[in-house]
Amino acid sequence: MADEKFEVTKRQDFSDSDLLEILNGKSDFEELQNQAVSVRKRVYGNEVFIRGLIEFSNICKNDCLYCGLRASNNKLERYRLSKEEILACCEQGYKAGCRTFVLQSGEDMFYTDDEMCRLIYEIKTQYCDCALTLSVGEKSHGTYKAYFNAGADRYLLRHETASAKHYKTLHPSSMSSENRKRCLFDLKEIGFQVGAGFMVGSPYQTNENIVEDVRFLQELNPAMIGIGPFVAHHATPFADFKNGSVKKTLVLISLLRLLFPYALIPATTALGSLEKEGYIKGVQAGANVLMPNISPFFAREKYAIYDGKIYGQNDASKSIAYLSEKLESVGYTIVVGRGDWPTTNCYTMFNGL
Ligand code: SAH
Repeated sequence: MADEKFEVTKRQDFSDSDLLEILNGKSDFEELQNQAVSVRKRVYGNEVFIRGLIEFSNICKNDCLYCGLRASNNKLERYRLSKEEILACCEQGYKAGCRTFVLQSGEDMFYTDDEMCRLIYEIKTQYCDCALTLSVGEKSHGTYKAYFNAGADRYLLRHETASAKHYKTLHPSSMSSENRKRCLFDLKEIGFQVGAGFMVGSPYQTNENIVEDVRFLQELNPAMIGIGPFVAHHATPFADFKNGSVKKTLVLISLLRLLFPYALIPATTALGSLEKEGYIKGVQAGANVLMPNISPFFAREKYAIYDGKIYGQNDASKSIAYLSEKLESVGYTIVVGRGDWPTTNCYTMFNGL
């Protein structure tokens, strides 16, 4: 962000009852959206950042009730990319204009700390003008610190729901909201740009739960916030639950933009999967990040966290060219750059604003 443009944009806050009114659909979405777009334009102009998403393993030790990668789904064909395959994704992504790579996987215990650190170090030395984001689940403080020291810049770990009671309904008893939150605070303390977030319309979620999510996000003050509609997966205990609403997700993106003017907010794959051009609608609601899938084709369809996930038929260059054209047509531009949170001292600088 150029200095001359720099002017701190204050966060808005909403009372619990105002939030509930919005979530109950009692307020004017268009007005909320217009406000969000004007805040987003003031802070980020018409720029959209892209992150090359590499889904490098669908093997997972956990048994989250909503996720198709859950350990007990024995119908899923499992895969794990080799280091060479991952580096080939980076090469393609780099040529296509990505300056951030996101390594995402299930909680695959195959990777020791040393193995992950070697991979991180290799990517960061080969692509030293790129940021590296990890999204590999819950680890110890020591492991996170090792990843950071090896060169990882950012970490995505959705908190899923801030309510301990709701968390229990979505996860096996071996997992807890308390540990998830501990991970997020550890990551932040270590120095990662941290991303949290939740599913919209997950089973048993109430609007009061979403208010708790907002309050938790205000406490954590993350650099990135990822939300997307819950989408049922046929081989999970939640197969028969209704999908989350696209409209409500868009309302929440606008609301989050007003609450966190500087946040990096992606228009997620789940949004694009439930509605054609859902991505574009996400950007028009206030999102400023897109995460094109740059995994090998054979892996994309096996990383099936929910039914109907869009896999993308194109390689990195083609899918980014396509996104770019779509965005240009509605007045937005893809940036070739890391797209960091606007200041290295972001947490302290924006605290309380
Ligand atoms: N193992 C990593 C990555 C998980 S997949 C981790 O724990 O962070 C990334 C995200 O996909 C999850 O955090 C979850 O919010 C979302 N997700 C999983 N199943 C989903 C479903 N059925 N519908 C919508 N989103 C889902």
